[in-house]
Amino acid sequence: MIIVLKPDVTQEQKDYIIERMHKLGLSPHVSRGVERTIIGVIGPEDVLRVTPLEAFPGVEKVLPVLAPYRLVSREFKAEDSIIDLGKDVKIGAGKVVVIAGPCAIESPTLLREIASQVKKEGVMVLRGGAFKPRTSPYSFQGLGQEALEYLKQVGDELGMVTVTEVMDPRDVKMVARYADILQIGARNMQNFNLLREVGETQKPILLKRGMSSTIKEWLMSAEYILSGGNFNVILCERGIRTFEDFTRSTLDVSAIPAVKYLSHLPIVVDPSHAAGKWNLVPALSRAAVAAGCDGLIIEVHSHPEEAFSDGVQSLLPEKFTQLMQELRILIKAIGRKI
Ligand code: PEP
Ligand code: MN
Repeated sequence: MIIVLKPDVTQEQKDYIIERMHKLGLSPHVSRGVERTIIGVIGPEDVLRVTPLEAFPGVEKVLPVLAPYRLVSREFKAEDSIIDLGKDVKIGAGKVVVIAGPCAIESPTLLREIASQVKKEGVMVLRGGAFKPRTSPYSFQGLGQEALEYLKQVGDELGMVTVTEVMDPRDVKMVARYADILQIGARNMQNFNLLREVGETQKPILLKRGMSSTIKEWLMSAEYILSGGNFNVILCERGIRTFEDFTRSTLDVSAIPAVKYLSHLPIVVDPSHAAGKWNLVPALSRAAVAAGCDGLIIEVHSHPEEAFSDGVQSLLPEKFTQLMQELRILIKAIGRKI
């Protein structure tokens, strides 16, 4: 571990840190630079892991000597990555990018209807699933390639960037011909063959967090993609499994500042899959924006009661309009842009 001390650290604070390190059986090595003093600490992994080094007075930050993920880390790249999604849309550049659309593409007419409704609110990125990862093999699995054709058609017609999930490494090239952004779903976050395959493209990849994955595992998955040569990765927090069962998942708001601290990659939040209930989506969206996310991905459906999947968590277009109004106020108040 490397402990970077604040520029105004006092001698007493330094002595205290060193004394505590010795008491914990760790070996501190002090290195005094012109502007900063850093302390290298070596010792047993388990002691280092549980010692709250950041909490010591005078400490600015603590860096692991060898982060298990390298290319995704802030140490590798200090400035935020900005990812070009095409059609003049960039993510990570300060503006909050809202992605919206149905869970699944059900018909070209319905997709066009929903896309036009969200586009009216300034949405530039259209979501829609063609391959759906369903818990039951008897549930609607998506319209496959046919749906990709509708997505491309509607995206082109309305001048919107498109995002859709790819589940099978064998489909990557085909899906990449139709969509602008490839989504790796929560269930496939550790499908390493799939990660390697999308790593060989230069497409922006929306990498969802696995529902039972730690932030470290999630970043390691991103590392697979970057190490394959594709640096265009957008992380997506979509809720994790906890003991709480009122919501579908628990939105880990802390993942937003944690990822911002650990990585240079942009992070978007999916409040729809986290909540599993449409009426919770606005509050989670506001919380995510307030916590500093780079964008949101929201499910919208004009007839949620008839939706083939995830109708209960989909916002009606008028509710989406209302949410966008609230978000504009919030985004302005925190000095950001939409
Ligand atoms: C989806 O975006 O429709 C989806 C299935 O998401 P997740 O992988 O987060 O469950
Ligand atoms: Mn869905």
